[in-house]
Amino acid sequence: MLAWERVCLPKATGGYNITNIQVSYKAATAKTFWDIAHKADKMWIKWIHLYYIKGQNIFEMRIPNQTSWIVKKILGARDDIKQIQRPTVQKKTIIRYIYNQLLGDHPKVEWRRLIYHNRARPKATFTLWLHCHGKLSTTDRLRKWGINVQSLCVLCQVSDESRDHRFGECSFSRGLWSRLLQWLQMQSPLGQAWTNLFTWIMQKTKGRTTTAKIIKMTYTEFLHAIWKERKNRIFKGETRDQESIAREIACVSNIRGTSDIRNQLQKLSF
Ligand SMILES: [Zn+2]
Repeated sequence: MLAWERVCLPKATGGYNITNIQVSYKAATAKTFWDIAHKADKMWIKWIHLYYIKGQNIFEMRIPNQTSWIVKKILGARDDIKQIQRPTVQKKTIIRYIYNQLLGDHPKVEWRRLIYHNRARPKATFTLWLHCHGKLSTTDRLRKWGINVQSLCVLCQVSDESRDHRFGECSFSRGLWSRLLQWLQMQSPLGQAWTNLFTWIMQKTKGRTTTAKIIKMTYTEFLHAIWKERKNRIFKGETRDQESIAREIACVSNIRGTSDIRNQLQKLSF
């Protein structure tokens, strides 16, 4: 599973931009300390200066014992503030600035452009995000955790399932992707490893052209469809063929695409 701290990072660094409540609370407290340190023109801040700080250095002074817990908490936030670099330009929302600083610096992930401006359904984008992190469970991973599951791929019933197999070797996945490419009038490599297709996708989704947007959306819906089909076969005993899945992806793409995507897709016949 992905660590919660990772999920809360910005999308550019591989997170899902979910607010980290703990860090958010720290940021809000630190913002109040910031106001006190910068003597914001508020009545209660003047009161804190008058009764507790009394001209001392707010970063060095001893926190008085007789203060209320809330004032102690706010003054205690100076340790967080010390870690934060002062903004070089005026920030509109200082609390957001502090929040991002408290999250820390993390390197950007190369696949971030697949997540940005992706018109696929949110649940499909989430599947893509898990896939990029290598967190879509396969039977080989489940078995490593000691879960007793059938090792055979439920989609083709020929080989054991792994990430390489599911998105590289599996004849069902290959057939579905080929059908989608036939509809889009494109060609892509389909090697034995899932990374071959992924590398092609990364190359073709550079920039903001309509074709790049279509490939990004179709690939995302394709991954999600494979994932969903696998789950339906294992847990519900329901099976769909490649043609009907491909048709659904084409339909979703037409509905969800922006006007430029729809215009381009409507010139193609399924
Ligand atoms: Zn298979």
